[in-house]
Amino acid sequence: MLYDAAVIGAGPAGITAALYLVRAGAGTALIENSAPGGQILSTAEIENYPGFPHAVKGWELADLFDAHLAEYPVERLRGGVLSVRPAEGRLFHLDLEEGKGLDAKAVIVCSGAQHRKLGIPGEEEFSGRGVSYCAVCDGNFYRGRDVAVVGGGNSALEEALYLSRIVRKVYLIHRRDTFRGAQIFQDKLRAAENVEIVTECVPEEIRGGAAGMESVAVRSRRDGEIRVIAAEGIFIYVGMDPANGFLPEEVRRDPAGFVITDAEMNASIPGLFAAGDIRSKHCRQVCTAVGDGATAAAAALSYLEHWNA
Ligand code: NAP
Repeated sequence: MLYDAAVIGAGPAGITAALYLVRAGAGTALIENSAPGGQILSTAEIENYPGFPHAVKGWELADLFDAHLAEYPVERLRGGVLSVRPAEGRLFHLDLEEGKGLDAKAVIVCSGAQHRKLGIPGEEEFSGRGVSYCAVCDGNFYRGRDVAVVGGGNSALEEALYLSRIVRKVYLIHRRDTFRGAQIFQDKLRAAENVEIVTECVPEEIRGGAAGMESVAVRSRRDGEIRVIAAEGIFIYVGMDPANGFLPEEVRRDPAGFVITDAEMNASIPGLFAAGDIRSKHCRQVCTAVGDGATAAAAALSYLEHWNA
């Protein structure tokens, strides 16, 4: 099957790109690996997306995005993309799971990023039995218990706040004494009675037994002392790695693997665009993903005009 454009990923960037493409009359396929919404599905509340002065739940915003797209004739395909490669006649060929495939004149990559792991002893062993990367999905299992959150970015701060409303106590463990997450979250966390902020410490080992995790051992970066924090759950938010494994090698990336684009979202191969968290950029927000998606679609439409000329 040949499409004008294939959009990979159905988070805010991908849904916006598909919406703009199809509204302009481009034959569009949207390839979705999981439920529409991307990372907002694992975000409890979004307070900084304009139009929702009292915040909106992540899943609610995802549903609204999805319902909006459902009004238009976008071809929605389920499954992972295994590879994208330039093919004959300036086309791209996409290999999908289960032996499926398609061709497209333009491709917009909106595959986002995945949670990074700490890589310490016990992380794998207690995965799903204490170790989690999604407070919204798993927080409720720890109602009335003590948990740790690791990281100092917006994800860690926001999810620590969410957990503080459910669990008995939250230990927020961060490796420095200043946070890169927003001041508003820091202020709320400092005001919360059941949050203890443990700074300049790095987790060294997650410990437990047959029933699951029991504690996390952290090492102080000031004096090397080890402290064992009793907690039945640990939520790890130490950054994101780009979901870029299916892209051609020649696509330019930054040292962390995020795709380098120009301001119009053109990647280093003509006809290939990137939008949202997969892009090399500083500000990763739902708003910026939506903006990237619209910009990429506009650039792809102009590329298609020349392609068809
Ligand atoms: P992030 O901003 O990259 O923060 C990662 C945090 O983990 C940093 O504080 C980092 O410490 C720490 N860290 C990294 N490796 C570590 C290790 N091995 N051990 C211990 N700590 C480690 O990642 P994020 O919080 O997942 O956010 C990703 C992007 O999404 C950001 O652009 C963020 O602003 C955005 N986001 C926005 C919102 C919002 O606005 N509501 C919500 C969630 C995410 P250092 O600070 O010392 O480097």
